[in-house]
Amino acid sequence: MARAGKNGMNGKDGLGDKADSAPAVDGKYGAASPRSLKQRLESLADSGVQDLPRARTVARGRAPSALPQGRAVGQPGAALRPDATQPEPSGAQPPLGPQASPGDRMALLDILRHEVAACRRCEDLASARTNTVFGSGNPNARLCFLGEAPGADEDASGEPFVGRAGQLLTKIIEACTLTRDQVYILNVLKCRPPDNRRPEPAEVINCRGFFERQLAAIQPEFICCLGASAAQSLLETDETIGKLRGRWFTHGTAAVICTYHPSYLLRNPSAKKDVWDDMKVLMSCMGVTLS
Ligand code: SF4
Repeated sequence: MARAGKNGMNGKDGLGDKADSAPAVDGKYGAASPRSLKQRLESLADSGVQDLPRARTVARGRAPSALPQGRAVGQPGAALRPDATQPEPSGAQPPLGPQASPGDRMALLDILRHEVAACRRCEDLASARTNTVFGSGNPNARLCFLGEAPGADEDASGEPFVGRAGQLLTKIIEACTLTRDQVYILNVLKCRPPDNRRPEPAEVINCRGFFERQLAAIQPEFICCLGASAAQSLLETDETIGKLRGRWFTHGTAAVICTYHPSYLLRNPSAKKDVWDDMKVLMSCMGVTLS
């Protein structure tokens, strides 16, 4: 169990090391192929099945009803798809109801992962990428962390948040007494922008359908936006991260909180306290005890 240090995080720098003592991982799912899973889901949809029963392996509470609200934002799945020359990132995907099982969520995510791997809507990014970076974690997670875009390490590995910023995010998650396997981590863009520049608005529009559908499949109770780019993309606002912090928003049925990106913390360590303050609020609302 993590202990909050005097500056709010573990250890002397506020993000102290923890031993690899991850709790048991939820969600080992069947080995059916994406094709067979897709056929199964399409068959169900053809039969008029819209909601699937859910067998939870992670306790999901309800988002606090008394959350201070910022403003309501768009529903998951409300994708903008301006480029008619590329296949729409939607596919034949029946909507999942709130009682969908982890296996159903995983099936939809596998379908999406394959669509992302084949996507070339942003031709410049697709031509330069080594891997698409879809996302990772628990498909039944209560909490999703949404970042901006892959960097060099993520492009090379195909996994989100594995570089220095990713290691810092792992420490933040562990300071919250959670593990990466208990949450879900994804980015707005699935392909690395050159020189780690910010995503172009057109690229965000191109990729919106993917991250919206990821969130619609997972149906998290909470979303934590990491940095201005992620927050502005999800909430469709141009407000600064400084103004977005300290407020609650909603996205579909999820409560949304915004904080600084771990990359920013690497350049500005003094902001770790602000992030920890945000995490304490988030964990409190999730019912996670930090001491
Ligand atoms: S960033 Fe997203 S929309 Fe653009 S090519 Fe990659 S997967 Fe496709």
